[in-house]
Amino acid sequence: MLFVTGGAGFIGANYILHFLAAPHDEAVLNIDKLTYAGNPDNLASVAGDARYLFSQTDICDTAAIARLFAQHRPRAVVHCAAESHVDRSIAGPAVFIQTNVNGTFSMLSAAYDYWSTLPAAEQAAFRFLHISTDEVFGSLAADAPPFTETSPYAPNSPYSASKAASDHLVRAFHSTYGLPVLITHCSNNYGPFHFPEKLIPLVITNALAGQPLPIYGDGQQVRDWLHVADHCRAIELVLARARPGESYNIGGNSEKTNLEVVLTLCDLLDELAPKAQGQYRDQICFVQDRPGHDRRYAVDTSKIQRELGWSPQHAFRQGLRQTVQWFLAARHASGARP
Ligand code: NAD
Repeated sequence: MLFVTGGAGFIGANYILHFLAAPHDEAVLNIDKLTYAGNPDNLASVAGDARYLFSQTDICDTAAIARLFAQHRPRAVVHCAAESHVDRSIAGPAVFIQTNVNGTFSMLSAAYDYWSTLPAAEQAAFRFLHISTDEVFGSLAADAPPFTETSPYAPNSPYSASKAASDHLVRAFHSTYGLPVLITHCSNNYGPFHFPEKLIPLVITNALAGQPLPIYGDGQQVRDWLHVADHCRAIELVLARARPGESYNIGGNSEKTNLEVVLTLCDLLDELAPKAQGQYRDQICFVQDRPGHDRRYAVDTSKIQRELGWSPQHAFRQGLRQTVQWFLAARHASGARP
């Protein structure tokens, strides 16, 4: 049995679908509170699969999490549940501390209590994989080398600070108690089931609805983009093969400015869903920059390539095209006008 927290969200749902697509008998329990960001429909295609189980549980409820460990006896946890949107963390940081810091502490405490009762062989095989972000490392100068796993932590937003705090707790549970943990730092993901408050799905949905396409500041902030399917393969490999206590950077080798991303999306939409008049880029508008906005993130992925043989398979433009096609099909299926 595998536990996935936050499995009704973007990355968690993609990982559960990836996990269940393989022909094996192992079940997965999705532990999700179903906040605004959680959507059970993301998992509609596996609702009838006997290997898929769901528990609507808050990760901060340690007693409830402990009961799930005792009942299902998982061999591993993939911890995705989090508050994940930087803008929301600026407007209201408290829930980020509660979910990302206290919630991760709650998961670690329940995992440790369960793990410490296991026979030695099961203890050695157990894994707690914490899904973190490259944002914990702060902002890079334009000409600086990408972050490595040993780059110093320098988070700038309440979101990244809460993720950094949770990383430290995960690390401490390994150093202090021997819990077999792993940490991954991924760059910006994109792909199916992305909640439309993040840049790529927001631009697609606003463009199709005839709404403005807002770009912060000058749009020259640089992000690395990782297709969520490539991320899921990396999670699987880290879980199966990495040594406990290690951390890995995961990225798409696709550094782009935000403006480049939006212009590429507009071009793809012009081709795949042309407007009666004009072009989608006419809807672009520049808005006041986000406070503390990091200028550039980029990750050095040579460790996971060298140690686990992973590299991203999706070229950015092709992955983005598939993503636009997925959103168009989802919109069509929901009955919206093409
Ligand atoms: P998301 O916001 O799409 O989904 C988060 C999920 O967690 C939702 O289903 C929500 O209901 C659930 N959740 C929130 N609070 C909970 C709680 N208290 N108890 C149980 N469930 C709760 O997030 P995502 O984009 O899928 O991100 C998953 C993880 O990956 C997060 O830890 C995030 O920090 C990290 N990450 C994401 C990205 C990205 O580009 N999306 C990049 C780097 C790291």
